[in-house]
Amino acid sequence: MVNCIYRLCEGKRQIFPINARGLRDEPGKVEPSTLCDKYSDELELLGISKRSPSVIIFSDRDSEYTEFLKSTIGEGIKSGIYSYTKQRISYCSCGKIEIPTFNLDSIGEDRLKLASRTQSGWICKFCNSELYESSDRTLVLDLDKAPKVHVIPMFQIPKYESVRSTTSRTVLISRSHRSHANDVQVEDLTIDPDHCWQYFLNYLQAKYGINDFAVVVGVNQIHFAAQLVSLVKLTNPNIKISIVVTPLINLGDLSAGINRETTTRQLIHILGSKIGIRIFLALLVQWSREISNICLSDIDLIKKCLDAKVVTNLKTEALQLQDFEFSFHRQNILRLLKFIRQRSIKDGVASRIIETITT
Ligand SMILES: [Zn+2]
Repeated sequence: MVNCIYRLCEGKRQIFPINARGLRDEPGKVEPSTLCDKYSDELELLGISKRSPSVIIFSDRDSEYTEFLKSTIGEGIKSGIYSYTKQRISYCSCGKIEIPTFNLDSIGEDRLKLASRTQSGWICKFCNSELYESSDRTLVLDLDKAPKVHVIPMFQIPKYESVRSTTSRTVLISRSHRSHANDVQVEDLTIDPDHCWQYFLNYLQAKYGINDFAVVVGVNQIHFAAQLVSLVKLTNPNIKISIVVTPLINLGDLSAGINRETTTRQLIHILGSKIGIRIFLALLVQWSREISNICLSDIDLIKKCLDAKVVTNLKTEALQLQDFEFSFHRQNILRLLKFIRQRSIKDGVASRIIETITT
């Protein structure tokens, strides 16, 4: 999905940050330490090269980012953004659950994805252990309600509005009941892996001078985006953020051989080229929906168009954020592809879209 927004951010930088903190080595899965290389190899197959000066690929496990994170949190402790407090903490054996005890009841079972309530008390859904309680010294952060930001597509604005008030709370940042050699330590406390990626924008601003970001999230991650907006407002109000919310993809009929495990190389085989993949991904983004359906007839249409070997001479221009939803509109792209199939490109808008997708 991230390839569909390749031309965003005024065409200046394409940023691919990876959240690898918290991942553990698991049999059959990519090792967290090699995730960044594996990801950039896949992007390379799509023509997005880490050697390009406009492409930034990095992970929250990189040593440079980790040092930035530690020093930023350290400064936040000194300035009072973070504070220490002693409180009752509920936790499980596997360490996935670590939550202030008073939150267990106030958040409610329907919003607690990791724990469920039984007759004898709360248990962890992963390790099935009961939740234990202890009194811990913790590091916390007080966040305000996330400010209003530009949200694309427009129909997701109410959803952002409904979650931005939930960021106004005290967030537990430290973890005392899980430890791993790769966890980030500040002073004597382990930092929650989910907090570690939240300084990506501050880091990119400090390292590259970027002040204006379009943050791309799936429909089920808008609350993470709101928390990020709230944290950035608190720590670096000069950074401007827009949010692009992409639908999830329903793979549906898998007869074309496309499934969750399909690699970029296999997609190239199915669609004929890296350009074919990018058109296919762009067609998958149905902005008026929360879940887009894969349409297998798109594959034939794309292949016929690629065979047509259409050449355009348009000067490539940066895609502006306000034009994004229109340019990546499924019906507009389909209209263009049908023009190409008939070898009759007459329309300036259509030409522009093919440049946008394939450049
Ligand atoms: Zn557990």
